[in-house]
Amino acid sequence: MPPSPRSSAASVALEQLLLPAECLLCGALLPFDRSRDLVCPLCRQRWRPVVPPWCERCGHPEPLFGRCRVCADWPPALRCARSAVWLDAAARRAVHALKYGGLPRVADDLAAAAARVTLPLPDGHAAVLVPVPLGPRRLRTRGYNQSALLARSLGARWGHPVAELLVRTRETAAQTALTPASRLANVAGAFATRNAEGRTGNALILVDDVFTTGATLGAAARALESAGARCIMAVTFGRATIPDFIS
Ligand SMILES: [Zn+2]
Ligand SMILES: [Zn+2]
Repeated sequence: MPPSPRSSAASVALEQLLLPAECLLCGALLPFDRSRDLVCPLCRQRWRPVVPPWCERCGHPEPLFGRCRVCADWPPALRCARSAVWLDAAARRAVHALKYGGLPRVADDLAAAAARVTLPLPDGHAAVLVPVPLGPRRLRTRGYNQSALLARSLGARWGHPVAELLVRTRETAAQTALTPASRLANVAGAFATRNAEGRTGNALILVDDVFTTGATLGAAARALESAGARCIMAVTFGRATIPDFIS
């Protein structure tokens, strides 16, 4: 007699309990005390932290000549953006697992890395984390907003509340598929605020998985600024590794 669906589900659960957990990225067995993680310590060590020297505002390596062009078009209220690691092959696989692998739990591993970022928060402002939203269609396909998961895990680590103050007003093409020049136009005016009254006196920290050109953060901050926010910062897990994409 074939096993009933219920008993086979139970045996799968039992198997997961008894089998040692494997690292999502390299397949190595996770240490027993880290068995709830999805990424092993070695893979985390392979993520290269973004470190100075950088543009104090956007956290990108400064150009050899002239002023930084990455943050030149940002609204004044967006004061500072930092990322945890460079988005090279190892970090990219983790982001892919989060976005396309149907593995929302990996957000916790990414948030652990992002939590080491320090932002120059002004004294006297309570900080609120604001995830960059997905359009409704992408949210339906994916089933979750990876930036909201990151924000929740990061909020628990930092002790800041999360408030979903932004919505997408239209679907936008994936930024990675576009030329640098069309990225700004792609996200311009793509965000609006909701329930932002009473929150704009806080320091608002935008949370996103990846910093590609900074255009998305700029557009999201512009919507918050229009609603009255004056102190906006941003944190992402990964940062695109091509420093001269704007040329
Ligand atoms: Zn690994
Ligand atoms: Zn800059």
